[in-house]
Amino acid sequence: IDKDILEFDPTKLEWINDSKVPYSFLIDTFSLVVKTKSRIKIINYLTNMLRTIILHDPKSVLPAFWLSSNSIAPSYEGMELGIGSNILTKAISEISGCSSKELKKYYDRYGDWGDVAYAAKVSVRTLIDPTPLTVDGVHNTLCKISKLKGSGTVKQKTNLVTKLLVSCKGEEIRYLTRTLIQNLRIGAVRTTSMIALARAFCLTKPLSSSGTSGSSDMMESDKFKIDLKKDSKGEIEKKLKEAEKLLKECYAQFPNFNDIIKCLLEHPIDKLLDVCHLTVGVPLRPMLSKMTQDLPQIFKKLEGKPFNCEYKYDGQRAQIHMDSNGVVSIFSRHLENMTEKFPDIVQIIPKILNKNVNSFIVDSEVVAINEDGNLQNFQALSNRSRKNVELSSISVRVCIFVFDLMYLNGEPLLKSSLRRRLELLRNNFLQIPNHFEFVKQTESSDPEEIQEFFKNSTEMGCEGIMVKVLDDPPLNLEKNQRMNLLASYEPDKRIESWLKVKKDYVNGIGDSVDVVPIGAWHGNGRKAGWWSPVLLAIYNPETETLESVCKCMSGFNDQFYKEMKLKYSKKNRTILTRKKPYYDVAEGLTPDVWFEDQEVWEVKGADITISPIHKAAFGKVDPNKGLSLRFPRFIRVRGDKSIDDATKSDQISEMFFKQVKEQKSNEITKVED
Ligand code: ATP
Repeated sequence: IDKDILEFDPTKLEWINDSKVPYSFLIDTFSLVVKTKSRIKIINYLTNMLRTIILHDPKSVLPAFWLSSNSIAPSYEGMELGIGSNILTKAISEISGCSSKELKKYYDRYGDWGDVAYAAKVSVRTLIDPTPLTVDGVHNTLCKISKLKGSGTVKQKTNLVTKLLVSCKGEEIRYLTRTLIQNLRIGAVRTTSMIALARAFCLTKPLSSSGTSGSSDMMESDKFKIDLKKDSKGEIEKKLKEAEKLLKECYAQFPNFNDIIKCLLEHPIDKLLDVCHLTVGVPLRPMLSKMTQDLPQIFKKLEGKPFNCEYKYDGQRAQIHMDSNGVVSIFSRHLENMTEKFPDIVQIIPKILNKNVNSFIVDSEVVAINEDGNLQNFQALSNRSRKNVELSSISVRVCIFVFDLMYLNGEPLLKSSLRRRLELLRNNFLQIPNHFEFVKQTESSDPEEIQEFFKNSTEMGCEGIMVKVLDDPPLNLEKNQRMNLLASYEPDKRIESWLKVKKDYVNGIGDSVDVVPIGAWHGNGRKAGWWSPVLLAIYNPETETLESVCKCMSGFNDQFYKEMKLKYSKKNRTILTRKKPYYDVAEGLTPDVWFEDQEVWEVKGADITISPIHKAAFGKVDPNKGLSLRFPRFIRVRGDKSIDDATKSDQISEMFFKQVKEQKSNEITKVED
């Protein structure tokens, strides 16, 4: 915490009193945020913006928060704007008088719709000043757009977008356009925005109707409330840290800012978890696993601790909820509502429950199976359509392999040990072969048996195994170590109590990495007319950039090249002539075309090396160099992952350090041999 926060006075009005927050206030903040790479500064700007809004127009905190986070509602509510280049072209033409040809030229030059709209509008003079946009008004219109359905939608959307754009002043149009295509990227990722939100509410409370700060009940009991005049810097920092931790914990099990911000406005921060907690129908953020090189590493890490080994199925993660009215909802790994995609799962649910079960949340993997019940790979599952699937038209059959139970009959089970959760799962749910099964598991700790279990899993078509701690570690264990080995279900965390071992690591082919294709060169010889090699990038959530990690030209077949040529084409507007501002690629590395970042690929390399060219994890291993993947080979498209699920800079540097450690221990073993 620094003077930017300590000396900021939110009572100084940034706009006329009693009016709604103007959109320009948000945009001024965005303009400051994009100019810095310092996370502390970004947090400060956002915190102070929110503090001002909390004090003067509390109702606008929520829309301001959504608009800063590149979304308009919780992801599971499926509120998509559905605005693409056609609508934008029409609307920008309308307000600027530029033809679609001229706009295309701008787009080829800038590669960013925000810059296109700004360039097109900058010289337009209007006779009458439009009514200024407000934060609340912009958010409302976006919600309206997302709710439009049926015929005539495109026209209605175009009209609403045009109305918004015509009212923009100065920089507003640049950011609003990026918001419209849900590509804001100001460098304020979810974690940063959440820190700012927690800080803002510790430092400021909304004025009550009587004009005092906060409603009386909330101020008295708020242990996080900061008094900048009385509290020491140490006290302030402690309160902020605790509030951030609490908000993070709350969001992990109840990722709905509509309710979280309402609660923050009405109650003290310490009441957060009392109001917003695990709820049937609201997907929690899934617990994730850490990668492990091989089985011996598992035995070393979990020595003396009881663990469960499970098959790691190769399908799609599915969180299944059933409320006390029997309503079933199914959510993906990214908390999208997939209920419509799986009517067959919805139909089977009543048949898998013991009589006493009236509500639950389970975690599972949905896997495609063939007529004989054999497991199919992940690709087979991606052939199923996403929406409005009719029971009668299902051609890809699936089986649910359930591996966890987080809630049962009104009781949240997140804090229970995995042993108890599994016991409750087995006692309350019934298996139906080829439809609903418990994951194959063993509690054996015998290395040979586990080796055999691992081999069987891969022969069955699984990716490998998951190894999970069954009981909480003893209390006398050092705190950090203990927190890393908890047997509870830890939403949104990747800790060592869940470890994965994939067959590919064990085969020594190398670690798999999830990357985003961001550019390519024209192929030669047999590959003439196709894209090869392709430039790949990983994701840095701190800077919201895509950092180049390698060029890839193997693992593709001709069919894939052909499809890729269509997917990345001028016609689809998925190739650009300019690099996107958030692509972090060295000056000298210039592919023939830049791609729109639109999908995640899984690739495998021989190893990770320090690179003078690539920007992945730049400075994390070597102060002046990045990391690269050597001999990368394409494995598959990861349709279930979005861009920000690509491998992160920290993960790849962690993989590098692990690899170095591994090499060292191999050398030692060789010497000992
Ligand atoms: P990956 O790319 O390996 O699927 P990920 O980042 O999606 O990894 P991880 O936590 O690293 O997620 O790996 C666990 C994933 O494996 C889960 O998200 C789930 O989809 C799948 N899975 C399959 N079987 C199991 C199981 N028995 N327990 C937990 N997850 C399982």
